[in-house]
Amino acid sequence: MKTSFKDMSRDDCESRDITVLAKISDYGRSRVIFNCPFCTNKVTAYMWSLCGGGKRCDCGAIFGSGGTGYRLKEKLKAPKEQS
Ligand SMILES: [Zn+2]
Repeated sequence: MKTSFKDMSRDDCESRDITVLAKISDYGRSRVIFNCPFCTNKVTAYMWSLCGGGKRCDCGAIFGSGGTGYRLKEKLKAPKEQS
């Protein structure tokens, strides 16, 4: 399930702070490495992507420049609706 910034105010959107493991200053390509607080994947994000549209993790969480990640809570094994 993918989260976008407009989901942040939803009741079923969870926010967790990220812990930055490393910051790499590379001319115009500064990036940060952190563990996704939701799925513990290691994520490398460019600063411009954090400050822009946000960096997305494989699990669907999204991270902004404020050091906080957001992810919609997944419904517990709800059967897929037929449409
Ligand atoms: Zn993740």
